[in-house]
Amino acid sequence: MNYCCDQFDWLVSDAGKAGLSFIIRKVGDTNGVFLQSRVCDIQHESKLRNLPVNGDLPNPFRISAQQGIRHCPFCGKNIKDFLESIDQGILDEIVYKHKSFEMK
Ligand SMILES: [Zn+2]
Repeated sequence: MNYCCDQFDWLVSDAGKAGLSFIIRKVGDTNGVFLQSRVCDIQHESKLRNLPVNGDLPNPFRISAQQGIRHCPFCGKNIKDFLESIDQGILDEIVYKHKSFEMK
């Protein structure tokens, strides 16, 4: 898969992992790219529910967050144009793979 730039490729590869990543998902009838941040890999998030909390945590306290993007933050490519240039079958595979990383 050829993305717009190496940095975009790396962040798509890091989907679901701790730190920053991109996920590609369906939004209505179109595909979109979301920048996600996570404190840990998604498979370890359930461990955080069992932590003893005795301190005064910030409110809100988030272990993950995401924001839709319209342009690649590294090269400036328009995301909508870029996604439309990708083979739909390949894009559907990525969307399916990233479905487990979606935030509600
Ligand atoms: Zn790019």
